[in-house]
Amino acid sequence: MTPEDIAQSLIDINPKLDRELIIKTLNFVIDAHKGQLRKSGQPYVVHPTNVAKTLAELKMDTTVIAAGFLHDVVEDTKYSTEEIREAFGTEIAEMVDSVTKISDIQKGIDRTAETFKKFLAYVSKRPQIIAIKLADRLDNMHTLQYLAPERQKAISKETLDFYAPLAHRLGLYSFKFELEDLAFKYLNPDEYAAIENHLQFTSKEREDYIQSIIFPLNIKMNLEQLDCDIKGRSKHIYSIYEKMKTRGCKIDELYDIFAIRIIANQITDCYVALGYVHNLWMPLYSRFKDYIAIPKPNLYQSLHTTIIGPQGKLVEVQIRTKDMNETAEYGMAAHWAYKFNLKKEELEKNMDWVSKINRMQKEIPNSTEFLGFLHESLLPEDSYAWTPQGKKITLPLGATILDFAFAVHTDLGLHCLGARAAGKVLTIDAPIPIGETVQILQSNSQEPQETWLSMVKTQKAQASIKHWLRKTLTTQSVVLGQKIWQKELQNLKISNVNSPLNSDICKAFKVQNISSFYENLGKGDIPLEEIFTFLKQYSDSSYAWSKLKLFNVFGSSEETPISIGYNERFLLNYASCCNPLPGDPVEGILKSGKGIEIHKEDCKILNKIPQEQRLTLQWETPEQAELGQKCVLRVEATDRVAIEKDIFNAIARHNALVKKTIFESKEGRVNGRVDLLAFNSAQIKNIEQSLQTVAGIRKVTVL
Ligand code: MN
Repeated sequence: MTPEDIAQSLIDINPKLDRELIIKTLNFVIDAHKGQLRKSGQPYVVHPTNVAKTLAELKMDTTVIAAGFLHDVVEDTKYSTEEIREAFGTEIAEMVDSVTKISDIQKGIDRTAETFKKFLAYVSKRPQIIAIKLADRLDNMHTLQYLAPERQKAISKETLDFYAPLAHRLGLYSFKFELEDLAFKYLNPDEYAAIENHLQFTSKEREDYIQSIIFPLNIKMNLEQLDCDIKGRSKHIYSIYEKMKTRGCKIDELYDIFAIRIIANQITDCYVALGYVHNLWMPLYSRFKDYIAIPKPNLYQSLHTTIIGPQGKLVEVQIRTKDMNETAEYGMAAHWAYKFNLKKEELEKNMDWVSKINRMQKEIPNSTEFLGFLHESLLPEDSYAWTPQGKKITLPLGATILDFAFAVHTDLGLHCLGARAAGKVLTIDAPIPIGETVQILQSNSQEPQETWLSMVKTQKAQASIKHWLRKTLTTQSVVLGQKIWQKELQNLKISNVNSPLNSDICKAFKVQNISSFYENLGKGDIPLEEIFTFLKQYSDSSYAWSKLKLFNVFGSSEETPISIGYNERFLLNYASCCNPLPGDPVEGILKSGKGIEIHKEDCKILNKIPQEQRLTLQWETPEQAELGQKCVLRVEATDRVAIEKDIFNAIARHNALVKKTIFESKEGRVNGRVDLLAFNSAQIKNIEQSLQTVAGIRKVTVL
């Protein structure tokens, strides 16, 4: 092909392109890459030509196409950015420069947050280069078979982790699907082949089925004189794989591996067509989505409905206008073609995502946190729900009710019990019901648990829970530390007059103030022997010696016990060797950073530990803390898989100990009795409320 032929093929795609500039660029590129071959053995210039073709399909203007032709020149040939500037002007030269710099960044040590930050800094200045990078990546993926297997995997992984989500985020669906399928083929060849085979094997059957829907639809549309185009298509291999993974099923159990698409002339026709579809087949109301009225953040617009088709199979039907379809296939690129001519500020306004990232970059100084945010923001942003006040909350896919509560308000998250949505009660770890109005259920006695951290997806919820846990742990450590300190003073018969000055304590244990001393002591970060050694100088020395003797002769019987209970709950760790329960006679050992490890008094493991390192403990009496309050719950539920497990989890979330359970299942009903030991009545109340939110529970009674 001559440069003239290539220019013509681009102009065939987009007649507005500048022929002269394309031929000039192409001659320059042919000369620059002269003698270079690709790994496939083809002349190198084939690659930039493919990139330029993709850019033309994306309706990019001539300058972007020229930059696409030139994108590897600075990196791979003797020419510099300066020379490109002289030949083609500043705009094209700067685009080439940015693309080159991004390649340099990505060749760097590893894909750190810093890398992404730099990448986005360039992108926000010149968004067009995303199109060049994606076109470049697409052609590289198409010729991946010529590279070594390790390179194939590494490049595919980067494509799947970064470029495909980026394409999705920008609404470039045709890019996204193609990149995903190409990458998946190299990353998981067996699965890829299995799905591909299945699709081929069942293609006749599927064609027939698609026809059984398209045929009556066409007749209906003709009768009603609605002009539209109806197509059926199979879903992409990687999307099918993702569906199999999320639903945990085999490919022949997936009903929606294809979709029907209706392309209408105008928006009102879309809704009319929807009416006809629902006329022919019953829709599943819960699956209807109106992305025309409420577009996705990437501007995707369409109506989605799932109908009960022939043979009772579920079929997804997408209805949209031609314009909307262009946007879905080629993304905002179609829009961009015009918007690129806008000023930078106007462009940023239109590219909400890039400007959001720019802001976050300034607000989040820590690289790891920034990377977290970035991954979050690159995930398909498909989850959203409404507050009762009508505010739309958008969250990453897989976000839970807890994430939603924290997104509304931190306090709401900290006291969240569950939610009510679409007439159902949802647990805190349930995924948010997309598009529904979610009313958070809260209680002042509810509080976060360590297990919450694994239930949330968003950085905000993670950070708020961690902050609360840290703060509460500190408070509890100070309380426990004070108790241990008081007990040691008492055991050594040190009176208030004799007791060491705070300043001496801080100096001896290298802490800023007395409360951090208590905190460290309570957390178990200061060994008991050190406290003992330090205090010896303030005590009656003969007593100190006699205490050691006492240990040897009488064990710990002479010691004043430390009372423990609800106020130290985060610092109480029940040893797995002897499984003590609140109320059992117990002793403890301090564990660094964790507080007290509780053992039964007669535990063999405990008795191997020197007496001076042990703490005598006493459970707070019921009057003090209602500790070990026995409680019997009666639960009535509809039988379903794993309901017992969910009931246990609801109880375990509140640190209560289950002592005995009886479950009976009869005619689809479950009757259960759970005996448990709780710290106080507030905790029992919390357990009761949590149980109410378990799916299938009909009634909970506290006996
Ligand atoms: Mn390239």
